[in-house]
This record gives sequence, structure tokens and C-alpha cells, in this order.
Amino acid sequence: MRILFVQPLYPPISKPFQRIAFKLGTSPAITLQQLATITPPHHSIELINEPFQRLDFSQQYDVVAISCITPTAPRAYNIADEFRRKGNTVVLGGYHPSALPQEALSHADSVVIGEAENVWATVLRDIEQKNLQPMYYSKTPADLKTMPPLRQGVGEFALLTARIEATRGCPMRCDYCSMSNLQIHWHVYRKKPVPLVVKELQMIPQKWINFCDASLTIDIEYSKSLFKAMKSLNKRFICYANIHMVAKDEDFLNLAKEAGCTMFNIGFDSLNQASMNAVGKAVNQVNEYKTSIKKVNDHGLAVNGQFVFGFDNDTTQVFQTATQTINNLDIDSPSVNILVPYPGTALYYRLDREGRILTKEWDQYTLDKVVFQPKKMSPDDLLDGAHQVWKTLNSTSNILKRCLKAIKLGISPTLMTIGQNLYGKALY
Ligand code: SF4
Repeated sequence: MRILFVQPLYPPISKPFQRIAFKLGTSPAITLQQLATITPPHHSIELINEPFQRLDFSQQYDVVAISCITPTAPRAYNIADEFRRKGNTVVLGGYHPSALPQEALSHADSVVIGEAENVWATVLRDIEQKNLQPMYYSKTPADLKTMPPLRQGVGEFALLTARIEATRGCPMRCDYCSMSNLQIHWHVYRKKPVPLVVKELQMIPQKWINFCDASLTIDIEYSKSLFKAMKSLNKRFICYANIHMVAKDEDFLNLAKEAGCTMFNIGFDSLNQASMNAVGKAVNQVNEYKTSIKKVNDHGLAVNGQFVFGFDNDTTQVFQTATQTINNLDIDSPSVNILVPYPGTALYYRLDREGRILTKEWDQYTLDKVVFQPKKMSPDDLLDGAHQVWKTLNSTSNILKRCLKAIKLGISPTLMTIGQNLYGKALY
């Protein structure tokens, strides 16, 4: 069969320089690359990552497989509708269709719920036998140990960076995180054998790697073995880490540096301890942020910190001190998001029950818009407050200070810090 995999565009890009920044440095999710990897070789495959390539709706395929998250769902549905109108069979999957399969099914011939690896061969066989079912539920978590190395050379990806996955899932179940969807298996933590990750890294031509794992501090000992094995590969990488673990182990930080780590992506999320406790992330101890960041920096590693506004404990007061507090933390590249109740999360169901979801226009669920009624402020207060913090943090003088401060971390962390700061500014 002729199969087209489609990854709809995210984030929305309107300006030409955003497109350039995206093409150079932002690699799209690897979900479809993973499915392409396990697709039996007798099928022919094309993979379109928007905006790297444009879709050609005049082409005819036996299967069009589209993966989407909540903000890309409307675009995915448009693509699905158009291909179906022309007689193509469309299969939808990903976080959003897994959370709202009935909605997705109104735009597709079939929906895959959960991780597709376990059911993909069945879906293809059923299409070949003209017996496609409306829904396929992946009952067990995909086994990373038996996965073949990620297929390269299919689709276009960023010029300078590539994504890879060493582990999957996160057991923390924070109530606002898509990984906490209990009907799926993303709360089950799994690891790829280190030699397999190394093999995949060797197959990737790009020097700069972006680990898309939820966190490389969930199993510190695993990550230490991975870092040891990566030492000779001469790669540079960025990965997610949890603030309560990242600075606990000197060896971990030393090995990360030696392996080529340049920056940790860390979800600090809130400056308000009560908010962290309320959403199930009490392990984030606000009063430890500064010492942990300093320790990471002392090992020549930069920190990209994400902050979220709009938790139920947040009042407008949080904005008055946020910029100063975040600047005082000495984070190399801070980013500011507005809380989003993604379908499938405990937060979504709670706010929906409380009648606080303001819109179900999914393309508004982009982390920079308010889509729910905050508890202790108005939606406009939340929007204006978060934008003001973001704008002040990304003033030219603040960016310059952060980039100059990063010089002491070494060349690669400095380059990563400059890149992250400029990318953040370009997207604003
Ligand atoms: S927010 Fe982070 S720590 Fe919490 S469940 Fe999601 S990935 Fe895990």
C-alpha cells in the first residue's frame, strides 16, 4: 500500500523568520517516524512534517495516517476531511484523538487510542483485508526494548537538530499533564536498552540532539549508563529533567556534561508552593529552585525553565513579583506559559465539571491564550499578566544578560542559550 504519514504544523507560524528558526532548530515529534519504522517493508511510505514540506492533496494514498495534539487537532481534521473527500482512507491518532476518540472519528475512518505501535500492524492488515475497524485501543504499553532503531531518511526534519527517545512515560501524574491520561499508558515508565539508543544516535547525522523523553531524571542510574555510553559520540544534546532530582547527584551532572549535555529543560511550573502541591507536583520545592540551578550551572550546564500561570492558587499578585523572582533564579532561558486544560487530563475533567472551560476551539489551546475561567482572577488579567512577564523577561537587555552569563558554561551551552532565547523571542 501507499501510506502517507502527516504531522500537522505546530506551533502556528506566521512570520518568515519564524519559519527559518523552525526549520533550522526545531525538530517535530518523532511519533510518525516511529510508526514508519515498524511499518512492514512491502508498503511504500511518505512522511510530511509541516512546515518542512507542503501537503499535496492531489495525490492518492491507500492510507493517510495523521498524528495530532490538541492545538493541531483542527488542522489535522481539515487535512483528514480533505483526503477523505478524495477517497483516501484516513487514520487519526495521538494525544488528542486518544482523549476524544469519538470527536476524531467524525473526521476519520479509524482512530487509534493510545500508543500505536502495538496495533499498527493490525490496522494495516485490516485495511488490506477491507476490514478496518472504527477504533483500535492499544491495551498494553509499547515495549521499547523490542523496537527497531528509529528509521532515518524518511520525511524532512530540522537541519541542525534531531529528536530521539530513550525512555517513555512519566509516573508523576501531574493533573494538568497529557502524560497523566490514565486510559493510556503514558504514566508507565519504560526504557530502551542503552546500546539501542547509542545505535540510533550513531545513525543520526545531526550533531545536536533533542531528547523528547518526559525526563531523564526519572531513573538516574539508567541515565548515567546512557551518558557514559554517549561520551565518545561527540553529540551535543538537550533533555528534560525534574528540578527535585537534577542536582541531587554530582556524578549524574558530571556524566551529563561529559556526554555532551548543554542544557536541561526543566518544568518549574510555579513560583507558588501551594500551586505545586495542589496539582500533584509537590516534589517541586520552590525554595530549592535557586540552589539547584546554581549547582547545574556550576557543572557547565544551562537551564531552560518553564513557568506556568493560571493555577487555582494564582492571584494577580503573582505577576508583580514573577519577573524579578525568575530573574533572581538566574535561569539561562526562561519561558512562560498559560495553563491549558488538555482533554484527557484530570484538570480538564475537573474544569469541565465546574463549568470553567471557556472554549473548545482546540486551536486556542496553544499555551499563550486563556481557554478556561481562572479561579482567582479574570481571563484578561491572566492573559495580560502572563504576557507582561513574558515580554519583560524577553527584553533585549534581559536576553543579553542571560547570554553573557552563559559564556562561563562553555561554547555549546552558550550557543544553546542564545538559540533558545532568540527562538523564544522569535515566537513571541
Ligand atoms: S508535568 Fe512533567 S513531571 Fe508531571 S507528569 Fe508531566 S512529564 Fe511528568
